Amino acid sequence: MVINFAAGPAKLPEEVLKEVQENLVNCNGSGISVMEMSHRSSNYAKIHDATINDLRELLHVPSNYKILLMQGGGTGQFAAVALNLIGKTGTADYVITGSWSAKAAKEAAQYGTVNAVLPKLAKYTTVPRQETWQLDPNASYVYYCDNETVEGVEFDFVPEVPAGVPLVADMSSNFLSRPFDVSKFGVIYAGAQKNIGPAGTTVIIVRDDLIGKQMKITPSILNFEQMDKNNSLLNTPPTFGIYVMGLVFKWIKRNGGVAGMAKLAAAKSKLIYDTINQSNGFYYCPVDVNVRSRMNVPFRIGSASGDDALEKEFLAKAEAEGMIQLKGHRSVGGIRASLYNAVTLAETQQLANLMVAFCKNNK
Ligand code: PMP
Repeated sequence: MVINFAAGPAKLPEEVLKEVQENLVNCNGSGISVMEMSHRSSNYAKIHDATINDLRELLHVPSNYKILLMQGGGTGQFAAVALNLIGKTGTADYVITGSWSAKAAKEAAQYGTVNAVLPKLAKYTTVPRQETWQLDPNASYVYYCDNETVEGVEFDFVPEVPAGVPLVADMSSNFLSRPFDVSKFGVIYAGAQKNIGPAGTTVIIVRDDLIGKQMKITPSILNFEQMDKNNSLLNTPPTFGIYVMGLVFKWIKRNGGVAGMAKLAAAKSKLIYDTINQSNGFYYCPVDVNVRSRMNVPFRIGSASGDDALEKEFLAKAEAEGMIQLKGHRSVGGIRASLYNAVTLAETQQLANLMVAFCKNNK
């Protein structure tokens, strides 16, 4: 038995993988695989439209918001967001709280002026309270990353923005893990490969009045207006990925919806953070308590800067017990347990048990 704590591509629900397997050579009675189906066929149209409709239902997406399925991952959206929105005033506000928002800001700076809302943070372990932010009322949008996957920093509030300035959120690594009010946002996007499906598909939820404002240089496949006009079928979409994502949406619906996922995420992350807190400093999480991510739990072993030998030993022990992909991101080191929707409470308990035993034996 293997338990997969990867940060992404990450664990998918076993039930969904079995469903994919069973239908692989004969999808929905068509006699062929979904990978062999024309993206213009009625068989595929059913899959495509059901995926979008199920997502609309799961998040109660209001009717003045469009759901787009695009390619290019989160990084594609770093560019797409700017290309589609920054033209309004030529400037945008970026709230940089970790590696991914920093990368997004760098990409956007190719297309306009990027204002850093926060003074540069020495370490990405906090979200400065909104009162200290320098927001520009003239910005085309305010951008932030709701969950910084590398550092394990997750917003515990939805930012307030000046009237008329749309809020843009990268929810790649915590999408569908807690309910949120879509109407507070201009654009929300998420790469699929963490919580919702295989790599290759990106979901974009965009308020309809923000569509059609793209810069002239915007490539067609990053153009929200063209994607919207073509129901995300401007060119060949990642059909297999969309199919699997659709099955994941149905799995979430069967398992308590997004509220059910939130309850589970709270219980799982509490198990690991409690274990860290109760270890008397043997395990150390650098992130401020109020913004500790429910999805990605980073920690060091032995001291705040980590003891390399102990961390290696921990990873080896974990692997020997079937717990894999726990190594921290190469830029920060240490350990990172990613607890996406498909990771079960029982699996998380096994990790907590290992942590308790390892602490006892090595303290
Ligand atoms: N944003 C976040 C929050 C991410 O975690 C990642 C990928 N780990 C990205 C953006 C970039 O996504 P991609 O690799 O799909 O370009």
